[in-house]
Amino acid sequence: MKFRNFKMVDYVVYGSGCFDQLGEILAPRRKGDAPMIFFVDEYFQDKQAFLSRIPLQGKDKIVVIDVTYEPKTVTVDKIRDELQAEFGEVSGIIGIGGGSVMDMAKAVALMMTNPGSSADYQGWDLVKNPAVYKVGIPTISGTGAEVSRTCVLTGPTRKLGMNSDYTPFDQIVLDPALTKTVEVNQRFYTAMDCFIHCVESLTGTYLNAFSKSYGEKAQELCEEIFLDKDVWDDDSDEKLMMASYAGGMSIAYSQVGVAHAVSYGLAYLLGTKHGIGNCIVFDKLEEFYPDGVKKFKEMVKKHNIDIPQGITRGLTDEQFDTMINVSLGMAPLWENALGKDWKEIMTRERLRKLYERL
Ligand code: NAD
Ligand code: ZN
Repeated sequence: MKFRNFKMVDYVVYGSGCFDQLGEILAPRRKGDAPMIFFVDEYFQDKQAFLSRIPLQGKDKIVVIDVTYEPKTVTVDKIRDELQAEFGEVSGIIGIGGGSVMDMAKAVALMMTNPGSSADYQGWDLVKNPAVYKVGIPTISGTGAEVSRTCVLTGPTRKLGMNSDYTPFDQIVLDPALTKTVEVNQRFYTAMDCFIHCVESLTGTYLNAFSKSYGEKAQELCEEIFLDKDVWDDDSDEKLMMASYAGGMSIAYSQVGVAHAVSYGLAYLLGTKHGIGNCIVFDKLEEFYPDGVKKFKEMVKKHNIDIPQGITRGLTDEQFDTMINVSLGMAPLWENALGKDWKEIMTRERLRKLYERL
């Protein structure tokens, strides 16, 4: 048996207001007059009070990231080309936003030093050269992208991450105060990405004590804030940020499962976003995750969250086949969820029935 020897984030700063330390954190990482490039979620583009806190110097630049679609390889390549044309070299890339912006920052940082298209590096350990310095600053909690060794990209033929030891951030800045403005439904969808990661990893066949310790803590924090507490306050934002961190750490040594495998098919065909897509699928997975789904439904009810229904109604056989192919292509997820014999358990017919219920 070979054990995974995984690379982690180098530096972590945590605490409400710690974003204001960013200037001093970046200072020793500046290389001459090569700029720091700040990728900022479009939500912040007109929030002057926030933008003025970004520690710009010299040729530093803010790039507003459109998050209408989840990151695509073509967009990653285009931003890389533009930055290289404008600056030649940069000192670093700082991603400020949700999973989309953090993944975009990781991907562009990798592509600044690796030739060709990001589509060439979708997979495991294909990246050849270390990235430029990169920092992740989540402004919405749940994906675990701040700690993971992947950045999920939609390419010409697949939705798959650039998984490598060069992918994790050099530094993350965990400031729960940045998440205050997230809309209630969106906050729930992204938080459930974390909750679902935990259920999938804790019930999976790949589980070990490392993964379990983090997964249990993350799930406990989610349940505390979404089930036990009656108001959402600063404490909730702080705990959700740590749940996301712990959930991401849990996945480092395990795998996700059925909800992710099925929601990848929705994302590929319909462009359904990751957080809401997972919720749409998980809502129908009581046969696989009875306890987790029961708790999920309680949280949905308590917070009056809207989970879309009937999104696959009217699709053609060909479209169902596309989703089934994408989903069944995620072998490690199915194996984690259902064991080595997963192909006998999750047949195409059974998966089609599941997609029809969404
Ligand atoms: P997101 O990044 O798409 O953001 C969701 C919405 O929240 C956007 O409309 C954004 O503008 C808004 N938003 C963000 N911060 C805000 C704030 N402080 N105030 C108000 N609005 C704010 O969503 P997400 O769920 O964080 O990330 C999903 C992405 O993460 C997907 O692309 C998915 O593939 C990826 N992902 C990556 C990993 C990984 O390990 N790399 C893991 C899970 C998911
Ligand atoms: Zn996820």
